[in-house]
Amino acid sequence: MAEQKRDYYEVLGVDRNASEEEIKKAYRTLAKKYHPDVNPGNKEAERKFKEASEAYAVLSDKEKRAQYDQFGHSAFDGTGGFGSGGFDFNSADFGDIFGDIFGDIFGGGRSRSPQNGPMKGANIRTSVRISFLEAVFGCEKTLTLNLKDPCPTCGGTGAKPGTSPKMCPKCQGRGQVVYTQQSFFGTVRNVQTCPQCGGSGKIIEDKCTTCGGSGYTTSRKKILVSIPAGIDNGQSVRIREKGEPGINGGPRGDLLVEVIVEADARWQRQEYDIYSTVPMSYAVAALGGTVAIDTVDGKVLYDVKAGTQTGTRVRLKGKGVPTLQNRNVRGDHYVMLVIQTPTKLSREAKELLEKFDAETGGSLDAAKEESTDEKKEKKPKRWKFGK
Ligand SMILES: [Zn+2]
Ligand SMILES: [Zn+2]
Repeated sequence: MAEQKRDYYEVLGVDRNASEEEIKKAYRTLAKKYHPDVNPGNKEAERKFKEASEAYAVLSDKEKRAQYDQFGHSAFDGTGGFGSGGFDFNSADFGDIFGDIFGDIFGGGRSRSPQNGPMKGANIRTSVRISFLEAVFGCEKTLTLNLKDPCPTCGGTGAKPGTSPKMCPKCQGRGQVVYTQQSFFGTVRNVQTCPQCGGSGKIIEDKCTTCGGSGYTTSRKKILVSIPAGIDNGQSVRIREKGEPGINGGPRGDLLVEVIVEADARWQRQEYDIYSTVPMSYAVAALGGTVAIDTVDGKVLYDVKAGTQTGTRVRLKGKGVPTLQNRNVRGDHYVMLVIQTPTKLSREAKELLEKFDAETGGSLDAAKEESTDEKKEKKPKRWKFGK
C-alpha cells in the first residue's frame, strides 16, 4: 500500500485554480529551496524536493492535471500510466529536468559536465587522526598524498609534443551531446557527457608517452596541514588549491581534510565544554579536603567542602576547549565529584568503619533492629542479590 500522499496543490502551496504560470513559479521557489545541490546530504530537503517535483510533474501537464483533479492520487496508482511503483526518481533525472526548467538559475550545475573553458579542478578529500589534546589546542600535521600535476612533457594536453589534440567530431568540441526525449515530464532535453571524448571535447591521436595521454603525472607530496584549536571530530579543514589540477588553465581544486579526534578516557567533550568525573574518598567528602583534577591544562587542585554529596558538579570556568573563532575564548570544564567506595579494607580500617557506623547510627544498626523486630509485617525486606 502506498504511503499517505499530500495533495499536490497543497505541496506546491497553490490554489486549485492556479494558472500554469503560478504552478511553475511555486515549483521554482520550492525547487530552489530544496534542490539536493543546495542541501547536500539533507534527506528531508531531498524528500521535499521529490515531493514538489512529483506534484509539478503532474500539475504542469494539462492531461495529468485533469486526471488528478478528477480522481486524485488514485489516478496514478496501480496499473495507471506511471507504473505500479509510482514515481521513481533519481537525482540524475532531476538534474536534467532542473536544467531544462531553470536554465541558468543554477550556474553551478555546469561544473558537473566538463566544457572547454577554464574550470576549477576537483576537490580531494582525505582524513587525519589527531588526539583529544591536539584538537583542543590545535596542531600541525604532515600528510603524504598522491597528487596530480600537469604533465611536464605535453603541458597537460596529453598529446605527443609536436602534435595537438583534435576536436572531437561527435560533439564538435563541446564535450556534451544533447538529445531530446519524450518522457513522463513531457519533452526533456537531455545533456550527456560525450561518450567519444569523455567530455574533454578533444581526441588525442598521438598520445604523450610520459603521461599516456592523460595530461597528468602523479607524485607523492607532503602537505602541511594547520589544524586550528577547538576543532571537533568530523569537522574538515580546507586547504585551498591543493586538490586536482584545474582544467584548461583553471585553478586547482581544494584539499578537504576531515579531522578524526581520538577519544581520551579522561574527558568527554560536548561542543566547547569538557566533562569528567573525579573520585573522592568518603572521608574527603565528609570532612573536606583536596582532590586533583585532570584538566587539559594539567592538574588542578580543588578544595572539596566538608559535607559534599556524591555526584556534586563543579564548574571550572574557562578550562574547556578554545572556540574556533577565538582561541582565547574557551568553554568550561564540568567535573563530577563521585565518592569512591573502597573495595579492599585492612582489618583496622574495617573496625574503624564499624565504629564509625555505630557512632553515626548507620545501616549496621538497622540490620540489628531488623533481627530483633517482632512485628514481621513492618520488617524491611532485605534485597537479595543474585538469584
Ligand atoms: Zn604528457
Ligand atoms: Zn566529444
